[in-house]
Amino acid sequence: MKCFKCNGAYQIKHGKFKFNDRYVGSIVVDNVDYYECSKCDDQLLPVETAKLIENKRKELLDRYLQEQPIKEFMSAAETAASLNITRQALHKHKRINKGFIYQTTFSGNKVYLKKSIDQYKKNGDGRFLINLPSKEQCGDFKFGHIEIQGWDYVQNIEQYLKSHKTLVDITSLSK
Ligand SMILES: [Zn+2]
Repeated sequence: MKCFKCNGAYQIKHGKFKFNDRYVGSIVVDNVDYYECSKCDDQLLPVETAKLIENKRKELLDRYLQEQPIKEFMSAAETAASLNITRQALHKHKRINKGFIYQTTFSGNKVYLKKSIDQYKKNGDGRFLINLPSKEQCGDFKFGHIEIQGWDYVQNIEQYLKSHKTLVDITSLSK
């Protein structure tokens, strides 16, 4: 399989895979398959690895939210009022449920991060780097030659696989 960027070839690797996510910072998964160009180090992920990373990402995001003091959050009722919508509309809101406002559960109640609500009200996207940033942690996740930004990347990978037959071939090699 030829590299998208150079004339090198991807080779299958197995082991630790690390990348910097723009919302949770460094994510490391161990014992996974990935492909790496022998010339330029461009990397590709099989869908299975991408899904593992997505799970790890959700886990980390929730851990970082749980570490915030409870006073940094609003209840569902307060959040709905702040957004000028009903509680029912809030619970059914696709974009918010997808995580465009950071949310977690304390004692069985869903709560929403105030800073994230404020940012969502300004530009429709309440996500930001929640982990303490370091210089290395500010890049977007790179998948092959396309760059994928945060939350939607598994979905993007699936769309990408559908439109790029060559990549489908490469992922089937790992089965
Ligand atoms: Zn290459």
